[in-house]
Amino acid sequence: MVFHPPERLPKLPPVPDSITLEEFMSNEQYGRYPLDQSRSPYTCGLTGKTYSAREVKQRVDFLARGIGKRLGFHPHQDTAWDRVVTLFSLNTIDYIPFTHAVHRLDGIVAPASAAYSASELEHQLRSSGAKALFTCTALLDTARKAAKAAGLSEDNIFILSMAGDTGSPPHTTVDELISQGRQLPPTPPLQWAKGQGARQVAYLCYSSGTSGLPKAVMISHTNIISNVLAGCVGEAPTRDELHITTQVALGLLPLSHIYGLTVVALVSQYRGDEVIVLPKFEIDSFLQAVDRFKIRRLNIVPPILISMMQNEDKCRQHDLRSVKFLYSGAAPLGKELVQDALKRYPQWRVGQGYGMTEASPLVTSTDELDVDIGSSGSLVPGTYAKIVTPDGHEVTAYDTPGEMLVQGPSVVLGYLHSERANAETFIWDEDGRWLRTGDEVVVRKSAQGNEHWFVVDRIKELIKVKGHQVAPAELEAHLLTHPAVYDCAVIPVQDPRAGEVPKAYVVKVSSATAGNPDEEIAQALEKHVQDHKANHKWLRGGVEFVDAIPKSASGKILRKDLKERERARQREE
Ligand code: AMP
Repeated sequence: MVFHPPERLPKLPPVPDSITLEEFMSNEQYGRYPLDQSRSPYTCGLTGKTYSAREVKQRVDFLARGIGKRLGFHPHQDTAWDRVVTLFSLNTIDYIPFTHAVHRLDGIVAPASAAYSASELEHQLRSSGAKALFTCTALLDTARKAAKAAGLSEDNIFILSMAGDTGSPPHTTVDELISQGRQLPPTPPLQWAKGQGARQVAYLCYSSGTSGLPKAVMISHTNIISNVLAGCVGEAPTRDELHITTQVALGLLPLSHIYGLTVVALVSQYRGDEVIVLPKFEIDSFLQAVDRFKIRRLNIVPPILISMMQNEDKCRQHDLRSVKFLYSGAAPLGKELVQDALKRYPQWRVGQGYGMTEASPLVTSTDELDVDIGSSGSLVPGTYAKIVTPDGHEVTAYDTPGEMLVQGPSVVLGYLHSERANAETFIWDEDGRWLRTGDEVVVRKSAQGNEHWFVVDRIKELIKVKGHQVAPAELEAHLLTHPAVYDCAVIPVQDPRAGEVPKAYVVKVSSATAGNPDEEIAQALEKHVQDHKANHKWLRGGVEFVDAIPKSASGKILRKDLKERERARQREE
């Protein structure tokens, strides 16, 4: 049985498939909110620095000219794969406009998490084939180390300016490229063949999908355009009923993650909203920004709400009355937490988006006027779904759990150079091509008669720490490089602040560990991870030594058994 978006929502309009995302975002012909009536799309939440929508369009144009000259990017030569650029930066007001400039040059942007260590970034630079690295001063040391290790010249490192930057940076800045671009002739318009936008990659975002190591996800221009349209038309009737045209939204979630990129930034920019950009979560600057810029919509991940609840005194020192809608995504949002929040802030509506990198990302979303606490809302326009049980039967009844399969124009092209993962994740049946989400869901009817989706469990290997992906396979491969580790398995354990954190089960190499107390070996293993991996991947769930890792006859780790063991322990405590 195929589930459809609710009748109440408008249908997805025809998705332009022969233009770049930049053209779609900047040209009113494609339905964006009129440029001159739009709010300034990106405003720095620390300094208030901003540019109007028209200025942003012009800066993108000049930046494209500057980058094109400097890096020798000529849209009509070679392929887009010769114009891959890695963007390793904290959020800045130039983050998204920079990506538009690369697209204007027929290039590909590979956003990298600002939390990456040098070796993680090096891996991304190599696997994406990046020709240049754009970063910010706060991350410059890591960027330089990674670039050196990946064989990328210092000349191909550039800087996005941030609030608080002092002195002149040792690399060319985006502002300098824009100044240079002003003096250069315009970049010739792209002349894409019919359907090229649906075939050509706009972003390479990294995700481990349902299993294994993080992989580059090929997201086409049309994938993103359709998700932006779905995010906008899905809200259109609500906006009319709420009597709002444009609004001010929080842009704190990492723009390197597909949620921040599409749902927070691009959807807002397209519908004329203003995004208040903050480089990272810090309770004081966050509350000051909400108060100063009168933010209406808070785009968050669950730990931000937890932090608000734990900092009630600080919250009380600020005027937060502008907030009307709290929108959480990227990880499960606990029902009790929402109920607690609504007791303190009864004027809020609290909704959720559910999605994944491989769906560009929005799959379901809460309608502001049809909130059902705990639910992730309804299918967004243009997206269809099935639910299948582990034995492959399609679920046809409400309230019956199974894995969610997703279909629609936002389902990505696939993983780069990963045929096996592609075959496992993107499957075909008589109704077409489906994305396996690896999430267990149920559907229920809301009081208003709409089908609401609830994510009830995660079947796939992924661990979500504060909304960030942690791939167990990546940590297991890394732990196995330590001489004390004979075998291991990493699983998620519940954490009151981060949602989940990774825990390692380890079988020791007896010869290498004889005479050393377990505590010391565990500390050494934790340090081994801390020295090489991003902060959210650290083994905050601890290390437990076991005699053997439970495995199936084919050698697959039986994570379910370990998870069950963990749950049993938590029940006992
Ligand atoms: P990512 O590709 O990093 O966006 O991670 C996608 C995964 O995050 C999904 O497959 C889910 O497991 C989880 N996720 C995203 N949104 C939600 C949500 N609203 N509720 C529960 N889990 C979510």
